[in-house]
Amino acid sequence: MTLQSINIFGRRIITSMPDVRPENVKEDIAAIASKYGIEVVGFLGLDERTKIPAEEMGLLRGVKWKDSEVDVSKVHDPLDIMPAARTMIILGKRLLDDSQDIYYRASDDYTASVEMMLLDIASAKIVAGLKKGGFEAEEYTSYYLKAWAALAGLGWIGRSRMFVSKAHGPRLRLHGILTDADIGELHAVIPDDSCGRCTECMKACPAGAISGDEVDRKKCGACPLNHRKISENALAYCTACTASCPVGRPSRHEHAVQAVSRQQITP
Ligand code: SF4
Ligand code: SF4
Repeated sequence: MTLQSINIFGRRIITSMPDVRPENVKEDIAAIASKYGIEVVGFLGLDERTKIPAEEMGLLRGVKWKDSEVDVSKVHDPLDIMPAARTMIILGKRLLDDSQDIYYRASDDYTASVEMMLLDIASAKIVAGLKKGGFEAEEYTSYYLKAWAALAGLGWIGRSRMFVSKAHGPRLRLHGILTDADIGELHAVIPDDSCGRCTECMKACPAGAISGDEVDRKKCGACPLNHRKISENALAYCTACTASCPVGRPSRHEHAVQAVSRQQITP
């Protein structure tokens, strides 16, 4: 076997190409994510079996505005986008303050939150590192990332139809990357009845949009807490259901910090 050294993520690795050690690549990706404060990194193996299975289409309920139904024809198979893809990397950034999900209007067609900007930067760095290592890589942005995150075993789709991370509850913003690096695994899907008897988000919703395991997206969108103005270019989403979720709730110290930030920025 011929050993050679390659340069990936700025580090020389001795390898018998093409068998680059998956642990090294995963470690490098996790290190970049951590540098930008990304708390969750998942690796979902992709092959012809890794479509959102028909029996798991329920994961997508409440994703799309169409009388609560999902237009499944819009769910793209990642392999149609990158036929050689072997892995979907899923990055999750926790909301800095779950009582203030603020986004900024940079232009008429571009809005982003600080969390999404950090995900953008980390993702660009990871894609560049993978390409430098000889892999194919591209960002994967989809309306349906929460379903892929559930398939990656990172959490489940909760009663509020938000993605509920095992460690952070519904407080994550997600970003995806496709690559032909074979660093993913198949995971058991955590069922979307994992909220058990909890109904905190239902009780907290000021619009009465959450009932049972369905969400009325129109009622949610009409809630005055959604898209409320914070300053000239900053707006905020309603986070009543997010903040009420006991899964991954902030510590008392984090709550104290958030209370200060609320006093400073809430009009
Ligand atoms: S974001 Fe607000 S209005 Fe929408 S479902 Fe959650 S609590 Fe209800
Ligand atoms: S608040 Fe309770 S019911 Fe709602 S998503 Fe969180 S765990 Fe599930």
